[in-house]
Amino acid sequence: MGCDGGTIPKRHELVKGPKKVEKVDKNAELAAKWKYCALSQEKLKRPIVACELGRLYNKDAIIEYLLDKAAERPNSEAVTHIRGTKDIKELNLTDNPEWEGERRNTKGDRYEDIHCGMFICPVVGLEMNGKHRFCYLQTCGCVFSERALKEVKTEICHKVRKKFSSTFLILN
Ligand SMILES: [Zn+2]
Repeated sequence: MGCDGGTIPKRHELVKGPKKVEKVDKNAELAAKWKYCALSQEKLKRPIVACELGRLYNKDAIIEYLLDKAAERPNSEAVTHIRGTKDIKELNLTDNPEWEGERRNTKGDRYEDIHCGMFICPVVGLEMNGKHRFCYLQTCGCVFSERALKEVKTEICHKVRKKFSSTFLILN
């Protein structure tokens, strides 16, 4: 009656098509998260901080928010969990040598390679472009890929060469 398992690969292929398209959009969205402040939506620039939820912000934007929480600003609902500077951690990020910021195409228009990350993992070199999970150490704020933290069994931070407690938070 046609229900002989042979239908399974066909179904799989049908599911695969639309899923792939969704993934591309999601990658672009994820890549943007690593480049823009979750509060001000401006491009991230040091000093960059993270909250306990693992969102990235420009420290200036957070300080400005803390000084006047009542001021009208877009996205302030995104940071209501940040009550003071103790709720944020300044991150120690590693620049991606491949990152050139805005480039120009042959017509001279500025454009940005959305899949190129501004920062990388200093241990395994993965780019922070939304495709890999990254964590920061609560003690020193250094940022590593989850892969590096799993593969390199150490309690000494690769970057500041100091012991860290095993607590780290996942950036997202
Ligand atoms: Zn560190």
